[in-house]
Amino acid sequence: MTLSELELERYSRQLLMDEWGGQAQDRLRSARAIVVGVGALGSPVCTYLVAAGVGQVGVVDGDVVELSNLHRQPLHLTPDLGAPKADAAAAKLGLLNPEVVVEPYPATLDAANAEAIVMGADVVVDCTDSFESRYLVNDACCAQGVALVEAGVVAFEGLVLSIRPGESACYRCAFPVAPPVEGRRSCREAGVLGAMAGIVGSVQALEALKLISGVGRPLLDRILQVDGHDMSQTLVRTGRRPDCPACAPE
Ligand SMILES: [Zn+2]
Repeated sequence: MTLSELELERYSRQLLMDEWGGQAQDRLRSARAIVVGVGALGSPVCTYLVAAGVGQVGVVDGDVVELSNLHRQPLHLTPDLGAPKADAAAAKLGLLNPEVVVEPYPATLDAANAEAIVMGADVVVDCTDSFESRYLVNDACCAQGVALVEAGVVAFEGLVLSIRPGESACYRCAFPVAPPVEGRRSCREAGVLGAMAGIVGSVQALEALKLISGVGRPLLDRILQVDGHDMSQTLVRTGRRPDCPACAPE
């Protein structure tokens, strides 16, 4: 354990945990996380990863901050309106924890850049909001063998799935086909409460910390479904598909 005095104080309340300690903290410090999308889910994810001491956090988002974002994206503030989300987020995250390196990527992840963006990461947290982008992130992580936390939230409903490519079900194994476009509900059409996105994003952050540190039992082959109406939670079993186009062996 080689934590400085300042680090020992900053992280003292998590170092106190029986399951945590210096080894887990060291793993966080030497880890690189990529957060794709710094909106409703990405706000809590980035905040908790940076606060917990993940050594390098890349923040990928090609959008600018809009007024209709602010009710659910607490990393962005009213003076940020019109600013690139990646830069606005990185500036605040740097103030939250100067011990970590925050790298803003003000770009939209697409088929051309996906593998390059996730390459070399220890974990990717997908905070995008469409099936197309989630498949894209999933496929890039499977190709690169990078651990991934997937999630979605609409209205009062959320789900989270953690993935170790080659070991557990990937997003395509769990959801082989996207629902037809007319049957989909997105935040744009169905709306979402910021607090609900905060719950789901916080679960994503916790999963990423578990995947990096090796502490706890991540949601591998288990999809967590949360219904904010009555706070019921369901764990749905899933598994690898031998014919998965993303993660099946050649
Ligand atoms: Zn798969």
